[in-house]
Amino acid sequence: MLIANNEGYYVDANPAACQLLELPRQALVGRRVADFLPPGVDFDLLWLVFLAAGQGRGEQQLRLDSGAIKTVEFSATAHVYPDHHLSCWRDITDRKRAEAECDALSRQLEHWVISSAEKLQITEAELRSQQQRTESILSSLECVVWSVDPKTLATIYVNAAAEMLYGHSPEAFLADGNLWFSCVHPEDLPLLLGDVNVLPHVGKTDREYRILRIDGEIRWVRGQARLVYDDDGQPIRIDGTTVDISDLKRVEFALKDNQATQQAILEAIPDLLMRVNGDGYILNLISGGEITLYGPIAADQRQSIYQSFPKPLADQRMQYIQKALATGTRQRYEHALELNGKLHYEESRVVPLNDTEVLIIVRNITERKQAEVTQTELNQKLQLVNAELNRLATVDGLTQIANRRSFDQALDLEWQRARRQQKLLSLILCDIDYFKPYNDNYGHLAGDDCLRHVAQVLSTAVRRSGDLAARYGGEEFVLLLPDTSLEGALQVIEYIQTTLADRSLPHAYSEVSPVLTLSFGLVCHCPSVKEHSPRELVHRADLALYEAKAQGRDRYVISSTADRPAKYPGQSR
Ligand code: GH3
Ligand code: MG
Ligand code: MG
Repeated sequence: MLIANNEGYYVDANPAACQLLELPRQALVGRRVADFLPPGVDFDLLWLVFLAAGQGRGEQQLRLDSGAIKTVEFSATAHVYPDHHLSCWRDITDRKRAEAECDALSRQLEHWVISSAEKLQITEAELRSQQQRTESILSSLECVVWSVDPKTLATIYVNAAAEMLYGHSPEAFLADGNLWFSCVHPEDLPLLLGDVNVLPHVGKTDREYRILRIDGEIRWVRGQARLVYDDDGQPIRIDGTTVDISDLKRVEFALKDNQATQQAILEAIPDLLMRVNGDGYILNLISGGEITLYGPIAADQRQSIYQSFPKPLADQRMQYIQKALATGTRQRYEHALELNGKLHYEESRVVPLNDTEVLIIVRNITERKQAEVTQTELNQKLQLVNAELNRLATVDGLTQIANRRSFDQALDLEWQRARRQQKLLSLILCDIDYFKPYNDNYGHLAGDDCLRHVAQVLSTAVRRSGDLAARYGGEEFVLLLPDTSLEGALQVIEYIQTTLADRSLPHAYSEVSPVLTLSFGLVCHCPSVKEHSPRELVHRADLALYEAKAQGRDRYVISSTADRPAKYPGQSR
């Protein structure tokens, strides 16, 4: 088997081909089919016909480098894969020689018979010995040699090879002229009968068809027949040969199968695949020429990418082709294209094949891009929803300042930090004075407004990063002041007291002031390494607040370690 490129130069050959052409593989690659043809054969024409037909078959004489002449039977298939053409050769030199010898003998025989009849010079014994020689040659041939009567089609002669091919003995063919036809595969019989009808007009026929052996096995054969005329031009015999070509056919079918599979694969690939040279010419449109965004690309003619793509895209392609060739590495890029008001996206990959050619694979990725955009939008929405959920989880719904949960988290964090860095941590608990009577007299909604008012004042009081004002629960609030001394914390309390006094929210039902006031419990502490939780800190602030209430309200009390009194005066709980 030999594989040739578009110009007929061999690019590969198997060992059998090397043996046939008597050349090592390296010497064969780069040679041309034409190198082995006898003078006078117009190879270029034959090659063009073969490429156009896609197939070729026949017999050919070859002249080897050594001067030896060989006859081969060939079967060639073009484009087994892009730009590669395969031919299978079989050496039939010996068969041809035998056939030629046989022909010569039979002519000689005929001549002798005629001359002996006319001149009565040749003895019967000589005649018999010549006949035996002829017979022994014919019976040694692998191909079936036969002669039939042109009128009755009765078998006149058939050699021993018939038994090998058909399973029927030569005698069976001699006895039954119809046997040839009953061995032909029913689907191919009309073709054979057609050949028999045209033979008188055309003189010879050549056909590949299937036969059914006596054991039912199907074989492919090549049958050649020619009409033999007497001196008066009357047909006297049909001579022919029938050769088993099943092996060749198997190879041919396998190749066709391969070709069909390859084609199916390429058709199934939605990408545009093309081989392009460094000058931007499409050498080979491998797949997808029909489905481009820019209209169909003609597969059968060499054209520049500037003819197939809009200029800016062709410029970009050229740039990447040159980059791929210069660096010998695969390039990948994406571009957008507006078509009929809609945005399309393509991804191109440029793979260098050799120093001058690249393979370009163009994929429409519009759907993927759209999905990516949708995904990004969804992610953004999700982030917003998450942020809102987070806010809802950490912010008090009524006052919109931090809730108890975020205070607990911040306290843990800051307490650990203060313990680690040995810094002061101040904590202020505060509670609205006489809020129950406020609620009872001004109404619950006014109570809510009052809580928002206090929250707003508290959040303006904490200004340093790390400070936190939170609603601790009900009408109780908490301020967390990391790295803040007692003086600092007192300043914050004083700011709150002054601001509340300035704003003077009326509270006619307070027993301590005509305007709204708060009581504060303050603790300022540097956690020691022995302490393991901030609970004590909160507890001490609570006790101080309790003390402030007990002392009459509208004031602050700095935490002492004194025990909590059982009940303070005026406590409503
Ligand atoms: P003290 O001066 O001792 O703190 O007396 P007080 O009346 O403020 O204390 P008490 O604990 O008796 O009353 C707290 C009141 O706060 C009772 C409750 O109805 C009210 N309250 C708690 N949460 C809310 C709220 O979200 N909105 C409103 N409007 N009122 C609330
Ligand atoms: Mg309270
Ligand atoms: Mg209160």
